[in-house]
Amino acid sequence: MQHWLEHAIRSFVECDRGNRLPGSCRPIFGAPLVGYADAQDPIFARLQEEGVVGPHHRTPVDWLPEAATVVSYFLPIDPDINRRNYPVDYCSERWLYARFYGELFNERLRRKIAARLRAEGYEACSPPLMDEFASRELSSNWSERHVAYAAGLGSFGLHAGLITDKGVSGRFGSVITELQMQPTPGERTDRTENCLWFSGGECRTCADRCPVGALHPDGKDKAACRAHLRGRGRSVQQEYGFPYFACGKCYVDVPCERTVPQG
Ligand code: SF4
Ligand code: SF4
Repeated sequence: MQHWLEHAIRSFVECDRGNRLPGSCRPIFGAPLVGYADAQDPIFARLQEEGVVGPHHRTPVDWLPEAATVVSYFLPIDPDINRRNYPVDYCSERWLYARFYGELFNERLRRKIAARLRAEGYEACSPPLMDEFASRELSSNWSERHVAYAAGLGSFGLHAGLITDKGVSGRFGSVITELQMQPTPGERTDRTENCLWFSGGECRTCADRCPVGALHPDGKDKAACRAHLRGRGRSVQQEYGFPYFACGKCYVDVPCERTVPQG
C-alpha cells in the first residue's frame, strides 16, 4: 500500500499549478519516484569521505537531531522539454525555463512535504531551504543526487547524474523527518550499475554530446562544466533575468534519458 506521504507528494506534483511553465498547461514534471533511507544508514558517513562528496557533507542528524528517515524523490522532466534540448548547439529556451521554474516548484514541494509532516506531528526539514545550507563552488553540504542514491533511487552514470527507473533527466529533492518509515525495499544497486559504459558496454553517448568534453571514464571535469555554464550565464541573466545558465546536453538524447538502458 502506498504510504500516505507518497500519496501526498504524487498529488501535489500532479495538481499544483507551480508544476507548469508560464503560458503552458503541460506539467514540467511527470509522476515522481519516491524513496526512503534510514537516517542512521552508514552510507551517510561514507558520503563524507574524500572523493565521494567530502567531509563538508552533513549527515541527516546534523540537520535534524531527531532524524529517523530521509525522504528522497525524483521528478522526471516532461519528454517534450527533453526533446527541445536535443540539438547540441544552444540550450533550448524551454529547457532553460524548466530548469528555473522547475526548481521553484521543487522548492515548493520540499516546503509542502515538510509542512505536511509537521501538520501530522513529526518534525521535518529540507536542507536546501535552511540557513546552514552551503553550496560551494563545485559541491554542496547536502547533495540531492547522493541522498537519492542512499534512498535506493538509482545509480550513477558516466555523466555523474543518477540513473533512476525513470532515467536521469529530472530534478531531485529530499526532506528529513523524525517519522520512522521503512527504507526503500531491496538492495541498493551497485554505484554505477545502471550505466552502459560502467557495466562494460560501448555507450559513451553522454560524453560525445558534451560541448566541452567534460565527461571522462575517470570522472566528470566539474570545473570545465561549470565554466561552460558560467560563460553563458551572463547573457542568460541579461536576456531572461535567470540567475544561471543551463545545459543538460548529457542528460537528453541519451539511452538513459528516461529509463534504465538495456545493454
Ligand atoms: S549515456 Fe550511456 S555512458 Fe552516458 S550515463 Fe547514459 S548509459 Fe552511461
Ligand atoms: S551539463 Fe553540459 S557542459 Fe556540463 S557535463 Fe553535461 S553536457 Fe557537459
